[in-house]
Amino acid sequence: MIEYSQTCSVTDPEIWHFVEQEMERQERHIELIASENYVSAAVMNAQGSQLTNKLTEGLPGRRYYGGCDYIDEIERIAIRRAQQVFCEPAGVEMAVNVQPHSGAQANQAVMMGFLENGDSYLGMSLADGGHLSHGMKINFSGRFFNPIPYGLKDDETIDYDEVERLAREHRPKLIIAGASAYSLRMDFKRFADIAHSVGALLMVDMAHYAGLIAAGVYPTPFGHADIVTTTTHKSLRGPRGGLIFARPELEKKMNSGMFPGIQGAPLVHVMCAKAVALGEALRPEFKAYGEQVARNAAAMCDQLQKRGVRIVSGGTESHMMLLDCRSKGMTGKAAETLLSRAHITANKNAIHNDPEKPSIGSGLRFGTPAVTTRGFREEECRMTADFVVDLLEHPDDEAVIERVRNDVDALTARFPVYHR
Ligand SMILES: *Cc1c(COP(=O)(O)O)cnc(C)c1O
Repeated sequence: MIEYSQTCSVTDPEIWHFVEQEMERQERHIELIASENYVSAAVMNAQGSQLTNKLTEGLPGRRYYGGCDYIDEIERIAIRRAQQVFCEPAGVEMAVNVQPHSGAQANQAVMMGFLENGDSYLGMSLADGGHLSHGMKINFSGRFFNPIPYGLKDDETIDYDEVERLAREHRPKLIIAGASAYSLRMDFKRFADIAHSVGALLMVDMAHYAGLIAAGVYPTPFGHADIVTTTTHKSLRGPRGGLIFARPELEKKMNSGMFPGIQGAPLVHVMCAKAVALGEALRPEFKAYGEQVARNAAAMCDQLQKRGVRIVSGGTESHMMLLDCRSKGMTGKAAETLLSRAHITANKNAIHNDPEKPSIGSGLRFGTPAVTTRGFREEECRMTADFVVDLLEHPDDEAVIERVRNDVDALTARFPVYHR
């Protein structure tokens, strides 16, 4: 028998101590990592349920183990909600797989399902804002296939002419659009036209933008892409995990790439939490959230620029922006460390033509999904930008660092993440 009251906090103080420390950190720090967010109590509750006990290889109605009736219903609801959030507004029908453990896993499943060893595909270069699962040499995506990178033009916008030229030259099977550090809108129609003109499939990895797309404040890839992958935990504000969408005629290959291709049984408790998060994304409040995320990013970006920080690509049309730290005489790594001393969390990032190696970087990536969830609006985002510039302009001034840390603590205290 398992005693329900014997939770981790009771039985394992050694671990629980650090769980509490982390919960405290999340409350006190201004979270600017563009790929992070805070999930609802409902999402946590679903993910922390007994569903973690269930083994369910296969798909709803076609399982390899018994006892899956209720899980089948949950998985079907997750699939249907994903279609309601993303496909119906675009007027397209797509099959969905809600089983990927993560975004990288979703991309791996697509490669497993649609490519053979050695096949060529185009992906955005990591150095220009792409993701490591789009062709980094030492990633699965680079080791077993032949990724051909495209990047940005001198004006730091996507070089669609280069994409077109490389597509004609290499005749890839697949073109991947999507990025982890690109602040502007993408022209998914242009990507689709290029892909289809050479007989390639277009896969859009909308991991970063999914929440904005659900809210209608970033262009949708649905209607253009043959395959769409995403994470569920970034701007979409669900549990850590992934989703894959494919045109109906590609459903079989998508599903077999996932299982038995690269995964065994799915994380049923996480699938359940994805269903809950997708349910939240269908509500009008989520649209308002996405709109505020974009307004907050614009306000933060504007204030940074007013105070002399150069923003890569000239600004933001999404939830994120890339600061060129050289405009304040710093490297990305030094800036990340400096900000963390004042309880502001962000990550260093490479920028176009970066003279620094990736472990140092000249950029800093900011995003507003997390601060918007805790209630920041434009005013707090402008304040945050001021904190950042005050720090970047006085990296060695302990009094400034302490003053900003106190200001950050006062601000975050006014905007608790979780109410008890
Ligand atoms: C974050 C991200 C992923 C991977 O997500 P994980 O869940 O960390 O594996 C994939 N693609 C893009 C574009 C991302 O930004």
